Amino acid sequence: MRWKGRKQSTNVEDRRGTTVRGGGGGPVAGGAIGSLLFALFRRGSGKTKLILIVGVIAACFMFKINPLSLFMSTPGGGSGQVVSNKNYKPSAKDQEMFEYLSTLKSDNEIIWKKILAAEGMQYRPAKMVIYREKTTTPGGIADARMGPFYLPANETVYIDPSFFRELEERFGAKGDFAQAYVIAHEVGHHIQKLLGLTDKVHSQQGRISKEEYNKLSVRLELQADFLAGVFAHHAQEKFNFLETGDIEEAMRCAEAIGDDRIQQQSQGHVQPDLFTHGTSAQRKRWFMRGYQSGRINDGNTFNVRYEDL
Ligand SMILES: [Zn+2]
Repeated sequence: MRWKGRKQSTNVEDRRGTTVRGGGGGPVAGGAIGSLLFALFRRGSGKTKLILIVGVIAACFMFKINPLSLFMSTPGGGSGQVVSNKNYKPSAKDQEMFEYLSTLKSDNEIIWKKILAAEGMQYRPAKMVIYREKTTTPGGIADARMGPFYLPANETVYIDPSFFRELEERFGAKGDFAQAYVIAHEVGHHIQKLLGLTDKVHSQQGRISKEEYNKLSVRLELQADFLAGVFAHHAQEKFNFLETGDIEEAMRCAEAIGDDRIQQQSQGHVQPDLFTHGTSAQRKRWFMRGYQSGRINDGNTFNVRYEDL
């Protein structure tokens, strides 16, 4: 993939020089402290309540803690806070990764602005946070083991680039265009949010069975693959950025992260009821469909019979 020398997005934040304090056994055990304080507050007299309020505010001020973080609890065990590591100096490789991701992000912004404008819609760029190991999000702590993801609540893509190494070493999917596909898929989720599809699917959670919800999730994910293909189609027209083997890199990546492949690899058998992203074959098919067509209207994964996806 040719990417050097193009515009870079300003909507990218590099947090690799930060760590997260608290949230899961660190100095600030977020939710746990909050629950304890709340219990004391409920049982205490008027005077105790006042002391608690003043005490918490003073402590938060002294230790530079966001008071809200004491009361937020996440699966990770707390919300934590981002602390910058003053000794961090990006290596040449880190810097190149930042430039690569910022360029790709800008490419996506340029292409999607144009596509949505043609549909009479306005594009609002997503943000991107590059982090290492852990970072905070409005929904709790992001952990690199979760892989890259898009958070609809603040329209942000979170990525620890070490995922690309894992993709290469564990899943055998290497190359800069495999990475571009991953990012374009996440931006695809942002497009779904702008189109109102994400909210439609998420609103069904808890209202339908887990199996039915997983099926909706598969439809949403395959559509994000399709949108990644639509991006590749238009970006090729505009930037002529593809090199020989790039589309194959994306295909190998889609193949590697299909639910059937991952389940087979991790547990030795396949459970279609638990699919949330689609099979390797489906992911490849929908990316290719988007790449060949370039029209978002050809990617309605919600009105296709599930068996025909
Ligand atoms: Zn996804």
